[in-house]
Amino acid sequence: MIEFRGVTKRFPDGTVAVDDLDLVVESGRITVFVGPSGCGKTTSLRMINRMIEPTGGTISVEGKDIMSRDAAELRRGIGYVIQQAGLFPHRTILDNIATVPLLLGWNKKQARERAAELMDTVGLAAEMAKRYPAQLSGGQQQRVGVARALAADPPVLLMDEPFSAVDPIVRETLQDELLRLQGELGKTIVFVTHDIDEAIKLGDKVAVFRTGGKLAQYDEPGVLLSRPADDFVDSFVGRDRGYRGLGFLSSDGLPIGDLPVVAVGDRMPTDGWAVVVDGERRPLGWVARGTGTVSEDALVPGGSLYDAGAGSLRAALDAALSSPSGRGVAVDG
Ligand code: ADP
Ligand code: MG
Repeated sequence: MIEFRGVTKRFPDGTVAVDDLDLVVESGRITVFVGPSGCGKTTSLRMINRMIEPTGGTISVEGKDIMSRDAAELRRGIGYVIQQAGLFPHRTILDNIATVPLLLGWNKKQARERAAELMDTVGLAAEMAKRYPAQLSGGQQQRVGVARALAADPPVLLMDEPFSAVDPIVRETLQDELLRLQGELGKTIVFVTHDIDEAIKLGDKVAVFRTGGKLAQYDEPGVLLSRPADDFVDSFVGRDRGYRGLGFLSSDGLPIGDLPVVAVGDRMPTDGWAVVVDGERRPLGWVARGTGTVSEDALVPGGSLYDAGAGSLRAALDAALSSPSGRGVAVDG
């Protein structure tokens, strides 16, 4: 658990980058910091490993104030991944990853074995081992960055816009892989992005920051979407893009109701709502990626269903939006 209590960062020039932040990052989950450029996401993230030191308040990791800990020791337990993977250009991929175990005092053979294992973990083919960073695509470099951050097996991983510089299709794959990795490794991940779609897809909880370094809302994605705290959050999470739309999206064409909850993808928050899938009442989180047929006896009657089918989710959302009825969209597969 990482706890921010009244944390403020005022830079020497007077800029307040983070203003009185209270927030608890839960262990073993993905917490996303999202917000417009310059709202204090990176500063908040970098305070966790003391790359930036707060000017007010306290941050504790596992109950211990980070300022009372040795910075090097603290950082060994916190992996860090940035946008441009930050690889050593003159070292091979394997050596880039092996650097961390070597620094930790492993012998060369063990360090290389560990690096090879991590390449596999992040989905890099073994033949990449001997290449140099410049010979890899942006997406592959990010995988190396993640492998290197995992090398010391830290319980906490900080990720600052790690996928922002790769193209959208690769980005989706990397997001999916991060979710898979998280399922396997159970790290505590703090993930920074300016992209609300990415935040909603990845976050177990999402902290929305506003300009001036103030936390606007901290909730599960479904709560942000269905109950935004104010107009800023409402518009930031997509009033203008329509996620607070209408009806229910599925691939089988049955109208199931006006759900006042928005749920996207297969990590939907349950938020107390359920639908009926294959005759069984299930939390919304189960209605995803072809898990079954959604029946019409869902909890709230009266909505419409839009078929995402093989087409684009965006088109289906647009169709859902133009309907005059409900307040929520749930997305099946
Ligand atoms: P984000 O990651 O959300 O884009 P940052 O945390 O990088 O935002 O920056 C928050 C604010 O703090 C911005 O206004 C930025 O210009 C300012 N800032 C960041 N670093 C410094 C610094 N070293 N000195 C002065 N101001 C800074
Ligand atoms: Mg930033």
